Amino acid sequence: MKVPFSPAAPSGSTSNALSVFNTIPPLHTMLSHLPGPIALVPTMGALHAGHISLLRRAAIENPTVIISIFVNPTQFAPTEDLSTYPRTLDADLKLLNQLNFDLAQERKQGENIAGSIKAVFAPTDHVMYPNPPTASSPGSYVTVLPISTVLEGQSRPTFFRGVTTVCMKLFHIIRPDVVYFGQKDIQQTVVIKRMVQDFCMDNYLRVRIGPTVREEPDGLALSSRNVYLGTRRRKVATVLVNALRVAEGVFAKGSRLREDILGAANEVIAQEQKIQSELPSHLRVLFKVDYISLADSLTLAELDDVEDGKGAIISGAIKMLPVEDVQGGEDPGFGGGMGTVRLIDNILLGAAAKI
Ligand code: AMP
Repeated sequence: MKVPFSPAAPSGSTSNALSVFNTIPPLHTMLSHLPGPIALVPTMGALHAGHISLLRRAAIENPTVIISIFVNPTQFAPTEDLSTYPRTLDADLKLLNQLNFDLAQERKQGENIAGSIKAVFAPTDHVMYPNPPTASSPGSYVTVLPISTVLEGQSRPTFFRGVTTVCMKLFHIIRPDVVYFGQKDIQQTVVIKRMVQDFCMDNYLRVRIGPTVREEPDGLALSSRNVYLGTRRRKVATVLVNALRVAEGVFAKGSRLREDILGAANEVIAQEQKIQSELPSHLRVLFKVDYISLADSLTLAELDDVEDGKGAIISGAIKMLPVEDVQGGEDPGFGGGMGTVRLIDNILLGAAAKI
């Protein structure tokens, strides 16, 4: 999905100025004066065109859009990047004001746009976790089992528990009528939809999924974590989307068998690994595959073959290993290229694409 070019919003414009709330009571006061339906787009900030596409759709469809920006500690394992995760609130606010400016222009030109971004909810850890979890007092969590334990959940055992817990809190705080999530994190969408059903919230809360926004022309899915890659790993990072696209091609030609669909994806990955392993260490990029999966779009159970009535999700995760022998003048990425960068992506096959 391409993001249209737009002229810059006048700087210092107050008409689009956004209210940022760090605590709940003033947000509630504001919300009580705003027209419904209320849409919520939960994020961890470091906004990019993927987030903006969700916000844009939310504003086209709803008068009031709230974005939450919260780097949620409980979804990070102790070994993960909580302390270095990019936090760019000023730049995020600029993007949000620009979006509101663009939406206002489009409305003036007669486009059917229901609303705009009305507020940013950027709570502190204390607001979201009034009794901070500790080893002896882990606290209260929402768990959605078993779908939180497969795929991403296998590599990151406490990740979805953190996601579902923070989303449930956000849903309680903001009380949205509709929430928007990106297909980029497909398992997250499946887990959230299941949580909404299992907790009997589906009669008043709708879950909408926006398509994955990719970099042009090579198709890498946008992610706040791509800043860690640097130039060398960035070039090779497309191996995952390339592998998934080849598998999608096999499905499109009529194959329904796991071994054919995943075999094609695994071959693309093995070829790239061979190319990289033959390069000298100052040029190569080593990476490991976490998983390449062909799964049912509701249960996430692995499939031996794809039923035409149901379709499937083909998804994958790879770990780009630290940059070796960084050369003078080379951009090794945010963090000096020292950390592993985990990339995920997915493509929906057949009937599963109707989300
Ligand atoms: P995050 O800030 O990474 O937690 O993402 C917030 C929301 O944006 C989630 O629903 C993501 O799935 C969505 N998102 C992230 N990257 C993309 C992308 N490239 N395209 C569409 N949605 C995305």
